Amino acid sequence: MTSTGHFSVDAIRAQFPILSREVNGHPLAYFDSAASAHKPQAVIDAQARYLAEKHSNIHRGVHSLAQEATEAYEGAREIIRGHIGAASTQEVLFVGGATDGINLVAQTWGRQHLQQGDCMVLTRMEHHSNIVPWQMLAEEKGFRILVVELNADGTLDEDMFQAHLLQGPKLVAFMHVSNALGTVNDVKHWTAKSHEAGAKVLVDGAQAVPHLQVNVQDLGVDFYVFSGHKTYGPTGIGVLYGRQSLLEDMPPWRGGGEMIGSVSFEQGTTYNELPYKFEAGTPHISGGIALGAALQWMGQVGVSALTAHEHALTQHAHARLAEVQGMRFYGTAPCKAGVVSFLVDGVHPYDLGTLLDQLGIAVRTGHHCAEPLMDKWNIPGTVRASFGAYNTLQEVDRLADGVARAVTMLR
Ligand code: PMP
Repeated sequence: MTSTGHFSVDAIRAQFPILSREVNGHPLAYFDSAASAHKPQAVIDAQARYLAEKHSNIHRGVHSLAQEATEAYEGAREIIRGHIGAASTQEVLFVGGATDGINLVAQTWGRQHLQQGDCMVLTRMEHHSNIVPWQMLAEEKGFRILVVELNADGTLDEDMFQAHLLQGPKLVAFMHVSNALGTVNDVKHWTAKSHEAGAKVLVDGAQAVPHLQVNVQDLGVDFYVFSGHKTYGPTGIGVLYGRQSLLEDMPPWRGGGEMIGSVSFEQGTTYNELPYKFEAGTPHISGGIALGAALQWMGQVGVSALTAHEHALTQHAHARLAEVQGMRFYGTAPCKAGVVSFLVDGVHPYDLGTLLDQLGIAVRTGHHCAEPLMDKWNIPGTVRASFGAYNTLQEVDRLADGVARAVTMLR
């Protein structure tokens, strides 16, 4: 197998137990990391070790296990803070995932600040999880949602973005990296422009943190969300970064234990300090600890090496798949990360995905939770190959050969 640059993909692959299994009699070639990435042994061990040796509920106990579990969980929060460059762990909220984080912002900051007559900005490429929470709130409150359309290559229409900013939106919410197209948006640039226009900025980083070095202070964002399971960690856990001054002014969302200062029928309830004000109930303790281990693992591999490796895979996939007759790519932006989306003339994406599965090749077919984008381009969906640390150039060759073979059978 091949290494790209200083990155040894063999050494990486050896750390992922699932890669030793076969699918339909073939070695697994997994090109669905954008939906969910596999877990290295270090992450599996971190979660198992916690459950086997340290488990207890956290924060409230005086006994040793409670203290050890609390230290491990809060230690993970500190690892995450460092990984994304937040100023303080008070700004790092554990949530259920990117979807949960966006809903939290919609139901707290959004509910507080977006009223009838206001507007906010989204983009055509957003995942449903950064559309529907805002539509639900807009329906109730009566504010307008302005949509930035895309250019043919899957980049944002800058003129339209600027024009929407002139309308004085209170919030601009957009994705860092598109899960359907791979486009990397210039978050720093658009955050600065949005701030100049007086808007707050929420960025959906679900597809960015797995591939790119993200520093929330350098980007200047107000809110940033991502999911654990796409960053080599577990499902059911994710992170909402929020600027401290904003989080302090926001009302709590879910009520219950942990998020309170004191509770009284007579005097009412007071709320805990950050970040606990937004973390009601017993959290996904093992998930938080394993997410810390996942980001630590990424740091040890080297995020810039990962970015370079995945860039090489993406370039190679574009080059090899372009050999297939009738190939049409969706998302050809100059700056892309980890995703190749395509259709082949005369072939249904679902049939192509099914035949590739017979060859042990896992791709995703469909609208990728980006129906507004698919509707605009008048396609039912695409075939998406998405890359992770463990993919090889040889697997990309298998994908391209498999597509060519399947297309011959299906035409
Ligand atoms: N945003 C983007 C860009 C995504 O790709 C996804 C998952 N496909 C999400 C948000 C939602 O993430 P989760 O399901 O982990 O909440």
